[in-house]
Amino acid sequence: MLLRSALTFATTSASKIYVNPEVEHVSSIRERFSVLPPAVVAIEGPSSAKLTPEEAMFVNRTIVGSLVRATCAGELQVDVVTLKATITAINNRFGWYYISCESCVKRATLHDGVFICNNCKQPIKYPLAMFCINLQVEDPTGTTTVVLLNSTTERLLDVSAKKLINKFPEGDTSVPLELQALVGKEFVYKLKLNKYNLVEGLQDYGVSAVYTPVEELEVAYEKNAQAQASQNRADCSSSSQMGGSNERKRKLSTVIEAVEAANEGGNGAP
Ligand SMILES: [Zn+2]
Repeated sequence: MLLRSALTFATTSASKIYVNPEVEHVSSIRERFSVLPPAVVAIEGPSSAKLTPEEAMFVNRTIVGSLVRATCAGELQVDVVTLKATITAINNRFGWYYISCESCVKRATLHDGVFICNNCKQPIKYPLAMFCINLQVEDPTGTTTVVLLNSTTERLLDVSAKKLINKFPEGDTSVPLELQALVGKEFVYKLKLNKYNLVEGLQDYGVSAVYTPVEELEVAYEKNAQAQASQNRADCSSSSQMGGSNERKRKLSTVIEAVEAANEGGNGAP
């Protein structure tokens, strides 16, 4: 009986399947149910969830020099940027993990052999180990620091902090080989800027995603950025001509002609 009442359908090559098409009765159903909370919530939020990784890794792409300059000057305009840089060191002064409270996930401190949550002030029964790795990164324009937090590190290394801690004798805070292996590698980081960066002008940018750079995409992006820049320069010079003298215009066109002529000369150029 149950089997018979189950809904099944088969498609042929001529069948078309419509998923939520833009027709009236479908949108009315969608509207009616839209008051209900959605069952699945994208962890990264609705705007970034629409982006493919190929797009996401170029959102507000910046370079180390510009990022640091804007941070120090308190001139950061956005709260998410992407950055391509190579890891040059692991700053282990404050360790590479911390112990957190199992209920509020805030940092805990050891008092007489018991971890006490800094937030709830309660002793912690089951302390959680969380990655928190301060990395020095650089590109040709400068050096800065980023912080890899737990979920990003787990995804990147496919290992938990606890598993790595257990490889060392108690109290040994050396950097595990798995982390040392990151030094020298180049990644694209999605940085979620916070009050610390935006208001206080400090570095240590929090990493919310890590991508492996794709050479072709980077080259295409670079080309596009250069074209955009020269387009902007052209726009600037043409707008500065508005109401300006024709003499300047003539001068400019002479320059362009000269460049074109040189190009036509091809191999003959010195
Ligand atoms: Zn707590």
